Amino acid sequence: MNYQAPTTIEGAVSLLSEASGNTRILAGGTDIIVQLNGEHIDPDLILDIKRINEVCNISAENGGFRIGAGVSCSQLTEHQGVMDLWPGCAEAAGLIGSTQVQGRATIAGNLCNGSPAADSVPALVAAQAIVRLIGPDGIREVPVENIPTGPGQTSIAPSEILHSIFLPSTPSRSGDAYLRFIPRTEMDIAVVGVGISLTLDESDICTAARVALGAVAKTVLLVEEAGAALIGSKIDDNALDQLALTASAACNPIDDKRGTIEFRTKIAGVLAKRVALIAAQRARERVTGRIGEKS
Ligand SMILES: Cc1cc2nc3c(=O)[nH]c(=O)nc-3n(C[C@H](O)[C@H](O)[C@H](O)COP(=O)(O)OP(=O)(O)OC[C@H]3O[C@@H](n4cnc5c(N)ncnc54)[C@H](O)[C@@H]3O)c2cc1C
Repeated sequence: MNYQAPTTIEGAVSLLSEASGNTRILAGGTDIIVQLNGEHIDPDLILDIKRINEVCNISAENGGFRIGAGVSCSQLTEHQGVMDLWPGCAEAAGLIGSTQVQGRATIAGNLCNGSPAADSVPALVAAQAIVRLIGPDGIREVPVENIPTGPGQTSIAPSEILHSIFLPSTPSRSGDAYLRFIPRTEMDIAVVGVGISLTLDESDICTAARVALGAVAKTVLLVEEAGAALIGSKIDDNALDQLALTASAACNPIDDKRGTIEFRTKIAGVLAKRVALIAAQRARERVTGRIGEKS
């Protein structure tokens, strides 16, 4: 097995284009090293991207933030601007593994690993994040919900590298949140995860909402009907009941030792209500929605 650690993105793309056989990109390594140790994968080339400075930073862009593919979950949760603008995304990253895991793990790796239970992905989908991929034919910008295609599968071509994830600016009075259910208090895989982002007007009426569910289908789901249940409401009991019904109706989960189909389906609705209430509270507390500004 050949290991390469290029220092530029161009160098990484060219190594990837020239490679024959099976190549794996290594970011934090918290999935891939486990897979290597378990002999589930046997790549010919490991391409480590953590020495590429350009992908190891968080930068402000158009009122939002560009998160490089090498940025660790700890960098993300310690970034005040991201915490202020997209607290749900930051808190999802802050649930991944332990402090030690978060020191290495990236949200890019969380997405590219293709797990339907990946914690950061529902929050990113709710946030309308855009993924930047770089390959021999140039740059592709793809909505994050179009990346996972099945368990362990993504729409990223073998010759492409995920360069960064863009978290956009938000209108004023917007908020997001992420919650998951796990059987233990930490260090476990989500049985259900729910990410919601929403915007309220001056009368507290919801004008936009995105609801994403994790661990209840082959990929993370963007549930448009669930978002629609909130829009036009004051996030009142009727809207929350409708949200729960539509979220549960969208579930098509597996039955396993962590949770039955019935349990996951019910919990998706319960969690969606809780997440919507947190997101709405955050939206009410935010006056301008601009970076770093709070009420
Ligand atoms: C003890 C432990 C606890 C964990 N707990 C959780 C948890 O609570 N929630 C959770 O969601 N996950 C959890 N995980 C899984 C893992 O930590 C996360 O999925 C993590 O975010 C993966 O990021 P990484 O940077 O380490 O990815 P890596 O292991 O480096 O890569 C993961 C996959 O993505 C591909 N990849 C990485 N970067 C790129 C890129 N830039 N372009 C293209 N492909 C790329 C790799 O080739 C590989 O297939 C846990 C893992 C461990 C070991």
